[in-house]
Amino acid sequence: MAEREYQVCTNCVMDTSDSQIVFDENGRCDHCKNFYKNILPNWHPDEQGEAELNEIVVKIKAYGKGKKYDCIIGLSGGVDSSYLAYYAVRKLGLKPLFFAVDTGWTLNVAVENIEKIVKGLNASLYTEIVNWNEMRDLQLAYFKAQVPYQDTPQDHVIFASLYKYAVKNKIKYVLTGGNHSTECIREPNEWVYCSDLMQIKDIHKKHGKSYLKTLPLCGMFKYRLFYRYFKGMKVVKPLDLIPYTKEKAIKTLQDEFDWQPYEQKHFESLFTRFYEGYWLIKKFGYDKRRAYFSSLIVTGQKTREEALEELKSPPYSEKQATEDLEYVAKKLSLTKDEFVKLMDQPNKTWKDYKNSFWMISLAIKMARILGLERKQYR
Ligand SMILES: [Zn+2]
Repeated sequence: MAEREYQVCTNCVMDTSDSQIVFDENGRCDHCKNFYKNILPNWHPDEQGEAELNEIVVKIKAYGKGKKYDCIIGLSGGVDSSYLAYYAVRKLGLKPLFFAVDTGWTLNVAVENIEKIVKGLNASLYTEIVNWNEMRDLQLAYFKAQVPYQDTPQDHVIFASLYKYAVKNKIKYVLTGGNHSTECIREPNEWVYCSDLMQIKDIHKKHGKSYLKTLPLCGMFKYRLFYRYFKGMKVVKPLDLIPYTKEKAIKTLQDEFDWQPYEQKHFESLFTRFYEGYWLIKKFGYDKRRAYFSSLIVTGQKTREEALEELKSPPYSEKQATEDLEYVAKKLSLTKDEFVKLMDQPNKTWKDYKNSFWMISLAIKMARILGLERKQYR
């Protein structure tokens, strides 16, 4: 196939590194089109959202009456979940149990942020420590699988742990920091394939060594149907119902808790920093900052010019990248050379492994018709 001519959206900074991107006659991309057509008209961080949130809060409080906790919030120490924690307690008067997952990679700064927030809010924290040998085995299998999205094992385990814990302990309401403000432009599947248990199992079967006995895993059926309809779990995204911007959130967190910011969204883990800043860019040419900055651009939190300027330099220094590479390799029980060799092998895509994408896309299509999903998945 002939190499496509380079093109960058005239409105955001998504470009032809997303091979499926479509531009209109004004050079605007389909990510932007989806935002203005499907997300923006249905997104109400105003009185309407406030009224909707108040209604939910009344239900959560009624449910939590006489209970120690009325909801659960996954806390990573990053800006979205930290601000949600603050807002839920201080502004909404809820009694959340905070839930953190230690996958073995969390940076000290994230742990400190979590501690500061939990202490500052006088709340309780439960930390789930996952079995490191299994985590390592799954992560190594992903590297050997040569797929771009190396964060899938951790991401999946974090959410599966949270839902499993909530259902087991009968905490009905799960509040998440997911939001349009910083995530309305989603990375294409080609970059970050959606969480798909069939694929996780296939990759592990082909490239893993040990058994995954204790690692929390959760298929779409369990998450979208069983937990929600049979166990009554409710997932709420309060940040979409309030005016939420990154700058203001950071300022509040710093003033209230002496919270420390990270270099970039999701850089609360060393692994994520390395994978997004090195593996994904060097090996595949996918720069996740493009999707993140584009979200900030279309929501008016960054100018396109600022984003283009920032994209000129790598997300983090070569020196730090080399240090991280050595650390990641060692932690996965590889030598530096073994890791570099691994990185030199041919790239694969999500289509090279078993997947249930047809089912997931059908579920997403249905969710879009019902107005439960507005983001673009492709
Ligand atoms: Zn665009």
